[in-house]
Amino acid sequence: MLLGQRRAAETRAARRETLAIVLDGGVGVVAVCLVSLLMGRAIRRLDASVAGQRAAEAALQEVNQGLERQVAERTAELRRQSDLMNSIFDTVTDGVIVCDRDLKYTHVNRAGKEIGGVDREQLTVAQVAGGLTLRTARDAPPLPLEQWPLARAVRGESFDNQRLLLGGANLKDGLWLEVSGRPVIDEDGARYGGLIVHRDVSARQRAEEEMARAHRMALEAARLRSEFLSNVSHEILTPLNGILGMSRLLLDTGLRAAQREYAEALHTSGELLRDIVADVLDFSHLSDGQLVLEEAEFDPRDSMERVAARFAGPAQKKRLKLTLDLDETLPAPLLGDARRLEQILSNLVSNAVKFSERGEIVMRARQSAESASAAVLQFEVSDTGIGIAAVDQSRIFQPFSQVDGSAGRKYGGSGLGLAISTELVRQMDGQISLESELNRGSTFCFTAHMGKPVRQAQRLDNAAEDIAAPGNHEDKAAAATILVAEDNPVNQKLTQMQLRILGFAADLVSDGREALDALARRCYPIVLMDCQMPGMDGYEATAEIRRREAASPQHTRQHTIVIAMTAHALSGAREKCHAAGMDDYISKPVDIDDLDALLKRWAPEIGAVAGEQPSRDGSPS
Ligand code: ADP
Repeated sequence: MLLGQRRAAETRAARRETLAIVLDGGVGVVAVCLVSLLMGRAIRRLDASVAGQRAAEAALQEVNQGLERQVAERTAELRRQSDLMNSIFDTVTDGVIVCDRDLKYTHVNRAGKEIGGVDREQLTVAQVAGGLTLRTARDAPPLPLEQWPLARAVRGESFDNQRLLLGGANLKDGLWLEVSGRPVIDEDGARYGGLIVHRDVSARQRAEEEMARAHRMALEAARLRSEFLSNVSHEILTPLNGILGMSRLLLDTGLRAAQREYAEALHTSGELLRDIVADVLDFSHLSDGQLVLEEAEFDPRDSMERVAARFAGPAQKKRLKLTLDLDETLPAPLLGDARRLEQILSNLVSNAVKFSERGEIVMRARQSAESASAAVLQFEVSDTGIGIAAVDQSRIFQPFSQVDGSAGRKYGGSGLGLAISTELVRQMDGQISLESELNRGSTFCFTAHMGKPVRQAQRLDNAAEDIAAPGNHEDKAAAATILVAEDNPVNQKLTQMQLRILGFAADLVSDGREALDALARRCYPIVLMDCQMPGMDGYEATAEIRRREAASPQHTRQHTIVIAMTAHALSGAREKCHAAGMDDYISKPVDIDDLDALLKRWAPEIGAVAGEQPSRDGSPS
């Protein structure tokens, strides 16, 4: 029973268990179902998210790959550019050197290494500079390190093409470099260092030095030529002064017809010779750029009249009519070089007379433009002579050029007149032109710019007029005695005679020392001083006269007028005379009319002049 009960209890327990299991199993199934349902959803969601993630990953990968491709492309591009830059950097024949703020080289191209002596980067400028020097000129001291181009560039300086001489033990004659520099600024705007570009210009420097040497030699040769010409012309003009002066005096004496003819021929030949010497000298000075125009007040009408008067005789001799046609409106006074203006006009009129056998020569002048401070004058010289063929018209303005340049030519002349005139006109800011027809005549026309003087106070004007007024000395009673310092005996005699004709007495001395002695003995209002004399020359003597005057007591101090009288045609002779303390200048050959005009200019200073004007026959009064 007990066994039965136990079995029954076990059976019930087993049934309960089974039920429980069954029950449990049902719940489990439900649970499993639920779980699997949920899981299914979760898995589906998971699947979806995994797929999304995969897609994202794939996209990411694609982006990544794209980026990598871009980076690779960029890197390759950069490498290509860097290679290109490097090959440019190394190919340029100019040296390029970059350094940092501490003057340490960071980039040096091949040319930089070759030219600049920088054999490797990472060196400092100081290390490289140790064995080298830099100078601005061969004889200049070496530049201190802080003045080296890289140091300047690092300091922020920019400069271009500075010429420097690099010296060193291995550089025998040194290397001439042309260096440019710039500071190097980094992306933040801060100074990173400096950059220089330099090139070897030694060959060019040598060529330039050679050219400068050749230029100096040419200048020296020109100076010697000019000095030689000047000395030779001095030697020619000194006797010519005697020939011209004496023949002129001779002509003013009572001569028989035949004698007059000979004396005239003598005088005309002398004048011709004088003109040729003057032309050659002027041309030489013009070619050397030594001829400088002077500026003084003058009346263009007077200039025209003087030139017309000079050629009236020669024109009349050829039965040519010489007419002056002056415009009413011609302004005066003007500022300019009257002597040079008259030289141009004289050359044109002299040619007109020379190349015309009949008809008329007309000189015209008018004002073609004006401003407050300047006037443009237009001058014209026309003739009815042989004319110039069109083919020859431009070349006659060239030096030594003549329409007929043959040895057997009919007309004389140096062929320099028009070339000199053209240059003088150019210096007057004008232009020269020609209209001509063969066998009908020629018209030469030129313009010249002249200044207008600024009028000062009225009183000064009057004073100037007083001085300029001719003949205001003629009432004075006693003849003034003029001291003449001149070494050439013929010229001494000539000057004495000329002065006598003009109403002056003359004391003669032969050099500067004698002039000083004479002045110590007696007070002369004027000294006519030859510049070139043996022993003490005129410049030295004048300087001594001025020294003595300055040393004399104020109340007795007197200014002796010293007038240079020289055949020395060196350019700047007039300036040299003024610098030596001379008051005026007259050049040899001295024409008696010019001497007269000069003495009249100084009449108020002379103080006493001859009352009686002797006749021009040279007989002593
Ligand atoms: P030169 O008169 O000393 O020969 P120029 O330079 O004054 O030198 O003149 C050069 C040349 O121009 C003359 O030789 C002449 O052939 C020509 N010429 C100049 N002026 C005239 C003129 N008025 N009529 C004809 N020919 C002229």
